[in-house]
Amino acid sequence: MTINRENDLAIGQDSPLYHIRQFFDAIQRTTDEYLFVVDLSSGLTLLSNNFVEEFNLQSNVITDIDSLLMENIYPDDQERYAESIHNILIEKVSDTYELEFRLLNQDGDYGWAECRGFISHDKDGNEIMRTGVVSRLDKRRHADDVTGLLNRFSLSRALRQELSSPDSHGAVVSVGLDNFHVISETYGYHFADIAMKQIAQNISNVLPPDVNLYKLDGDQFALMLPDAMPEEIEIIFASIQLCMREIRNVEDTIYCTASAGAAFYPTDADDEITILKYAEAAMEIARQQGRDRIVFFSQETYDRWRYDTSMQSLMQNCIARGCEDFFLCFQPQVDAKNGHLIGAEALLRWRDKDGSIIAPMQFIPMLEKSRMIIPVGHWIVEQAFAVCKEWQEYMPDFQMSINISLYQLEEHMFYPFVKDCLDRYGLRPETITFELTESQSVSDWEFVNRQFNQFHQLGIKIAMDDFGTGYSSLGFLKNFSCNLIKIDRLFVQDILTGAFDQNLVKYTIMLCHSIGMEVCIEGVEEEEAYIFLRDECKADIIQGFYFGRPERKQVFLRRLKSLKRKTG
Ligand code: C2E
Ligand code: CA
Ligand code: CA
Repeated sequence: MTINRENDLAIGQDSPLYHIRQFFDAIQRTTDEYLFVVDLSSGLTLLSNNFVEEFNLQSNVITDIDSLLMENIYPDDQERYAESIHNILIEKVSDTYELEFRLLNQDGDYGWAECRGFISHDKDGNEIMRTGVVSRLDKRRHADDVTGLLNRFSLSRALRQELSSPDSHGAVVSVGLDNFHVISETYGYHFADIAMKQIAQNISNVLPPDVNLYKLDGDQFALMLPDAMPEEIEIIFASIQLCMREIRNVEDTIYCTASAGAAFYPTDADDEITILKYAEAAMEIARQQGRDRIVFFSQETYDRWRYDTSMQSLMQNCIARGCEDFFLCFQPQVDAKNGHLIGAEALLRWRDKDGSIIAPMQFIPMLEKSRMIIPVGHWIVEQAFAVCKEWQEYMPDFQMSINISLYQLEEHMFYPFVKDCLDRYGLRPETITFELTESQSVSDWEFVNRQFNQFHQLGIKIAMDDFGTGYSSLGFLKNFSCNLIKIDRLFVQDILTGAFDQNLVKYTIMLCHSIGMEVCIEGVEEEEAYIFLRDECKADIIQGFYFGRPERKQVFLRRLKSLKRKTG
């Protein structure tokens, strides 16, 4: 493209541009849009001043507007632009055109723009002029369509301005509507828009007069509160909570709650991107903590949240690739009477991307919360059954214990899956023990109970894990008939010195024996403890570092092979 340096001189008196020049100058003062007019006989184009500035040109008159635009249009959109120009100039399919494309801006980013054009004719029908308007949509859209509130773009600008003044301090609060999607799913998008508008209005009404409410994406709002202290923010949030609960529909009253996160500037961060990110993260944390509350940003909670979310996505990927970063370790379980190996507990491990091994307590709660424990649980059963079958070649009665969180028993496919697995590997159910571990949230106890009984009838043994802690108590024993309890290592730590622990373990074992249950003691690390548990307490099964730590499959296999050699 060439720029005509002689400027206006290039436009001769017989060019239509010559005659509209004054009008064009007047009109460009009244709008932010980029304007151009092309004299179709000469191809010369008159540009508005903002066009010249935006594209760093040296003159208002150029010879090829389309090349100028093409050079600045996002590559993927160029073909569409060329096609549209071809249609109007060559194919002459229409007198007007309108299309959207991404256009480079002065920051070096592409933003959406809209170009509308029109071809005008003289009285004989000859094409004389092409007029066009380019609107930068990215710059124009400062308000939210539904609520009419200022949007994220405006909030960023306001924040940037606020942060640029020295000594400015205050807070950004991000407010998210909990479960708003339920409203749109139940009553449809039209009603959801009305409800959203009403909520926006209600919130605006309870805010101090100088505070702006902004509408961010989806169901999210934000406030900027210069000079605000935490106590004031809590009061403002309490009034938001009150005002937005009732959204009236013709038939029903709909209740919706809000969660919020607040971050302070300049203490938490002093740039607008980070401060907003922190406020939004604090809001996510508030949602995770149970919703309908406000959480103030702290670096520590944020780091933990970041760790959890990144771990969650890593695990999701890992599961999608067939659980390839998970593996099982096996810890020996021995007969307390003689110390002979009877089986192993399968313990899950996860290999981090940098190769470090992560212990299950760090990720099992997250797997449970996200329900990812369901596919991982299937994988564990499959692996443990395969290993058990293999090891029964060396020891026909080898017992495999598998941890199952109660949550997994809520899954309807779990029982059929296990049954199918037993058949496929040709395993005897009585060589399998399910150790039921505590789980955060069981919602359908009735179903859990039924599934539990099915496993029982099938012949799989059931152990109550971590007896004495959490859910695992006498009350549970009364309702669920287990074959075995495992006494948590908490009670074994001081077994040699603590009279309370000694009695507790001893009498629990007596109680269990009297109702026909066996007892496994976990966490046995020393010979003296083992002897005490064997002779004084009459424990049935022992598991602990004294007899072996959790080991990889190959390591455990060597133990089995050497046993076989010894016993012939
Ligand atoms: P748990 O079922 O009580 O497992 C026993 C834990 O105690 C294991 O920790 C084991 O390594 C450890 N331990 C065993 N003997 C000793 C000892 O003598 N001294 C000490 N200090 N520790 C000992 P791990 O492998 O970290 O597992 C922790 C928990 O994670 C398990 O507790 C279980 O609740 C859960 N878990 C492990 N694997 C799975 C799994 O595959 N599925 C489910 N749902 N939960 C699992
Ligand atoms: Ca266990
Ligand atoms: Ca335990």
